[in-house]
Amino acid sequence: VKGLAKKAAKAGTPVKQAAVLGAGIMGGGIAYQSASKGVPAVMKDIAQPALELGLNEAAKLLGKQVERGRLKPAAMAGVLNNIVPTLDYPAVAHADVVVEAVVENPKVKGMVLAETEAVIGEDAVLTSNTSTISITSLAENLKRPEQFCGMHFFNPVHRMPLVEVIRGEKTSDETVAKVVAYAARIGKTPIVVNDCPGFFVNRVLFPYLAGFSLMVKEGIDFQLIDKVMSKQFGWPMGPAYLLDVVGIDTAHHCIDVMAEGFPERMAKLDNDPVDLLYKADRYGQKNAKGFFQYA
Ligand code: NAD
Repeated sequence: VKGLAKKAAKAGTPVKQAAVLGAGIMGGGIAYQSASKGVPAVMKDIAQPALELGLNEAAKLLGKQVERGRLKPAAMAGVLNNIVPTLDYPAVAHADVVVEAVVENPKVKGMVLAETEAVIGEDAVLTSNTSTISITSLAENLKRPEQFCGMHFFNPVHRMPLVEVIRGEKTSDETVAKVVAYAARIGKTPIVVNDCPGFFVNRVLFPYLAGFSLMVKEGIDFQLIDKVMSKQFGWPMGPAYLLDVVGIDTAHHCIDVMAEGFPERMAKLDNDPVDLLYKADRYGQKNAKGFFQYA
């Protein structure tokens, strides 16, 4: 990764302007991260309330930095000015790197990526923050698939250090280098991974979560497992709490994708606790009920 970042620096391709498509949990977080590290980010959505939510979240995070004395109040406006909200494509046209973070739907993503490719410069790089869709398949309808790759941030973006840079079949080395350099520039730790279900992190995480589900099915109290893994083993949180943070709906979808991608290793369980919660509309922290009850 260090080599790639150096290659990008040598090629003289520093990212001066970024754009994020989607102002939701991830898009808003990515725009904030970029702006707060000095790379202005255009933030495009299709809904004005989503843009306002994205900006409000950024303002809240900056407010906390000011409260903690980590940021001067005067600098807060500067960072906020570095996030340019828009409902239109022309504002995206001057971006060197674009991160697509719209809803996890291949058709919507395909459309948004093709529309974006048509307005950005020929040297610009397009990326997707998808968690589960193949990068190679998303590149199929693009005119410059070599200038496309995955750029997978984790939630919450401002706290999670890792970014997976996912190389599709046609992604060029220059594209990977540019995205690695951008990730490093905005304070993240990039790793370059191949395109496969779960990429790197979810391939490690979901077998662990499947092990947890099996134990719950065997009748072991999920709260006990959480207590052992967090308080006693020492991880920041246990698997049940983690699933509530990730979102039971998101985890449910990811389990399906992993089971399809690796049927021999990730067979779906009958009466999987995640499936039972999903069917009971318990989506975790996002609707205040999952394994645990919130508020
Ligand atoms: P979200 O629902 O919070 O936000 C999606 C945003 O996209 C909404 O504001 C919506 O208005 C906007 N949108 C929809 N269609 C659009 C279009 N055509 N053009 C521009 N904006 C459009 O979703 P999210 O949780 O931020 O997830 C976004 C992406 O990030 C998904 O691909 C998801 O898999 C991925 N991801 C999510 C997480 C997570 O924990 N939430 C973590 C990593 C990756």
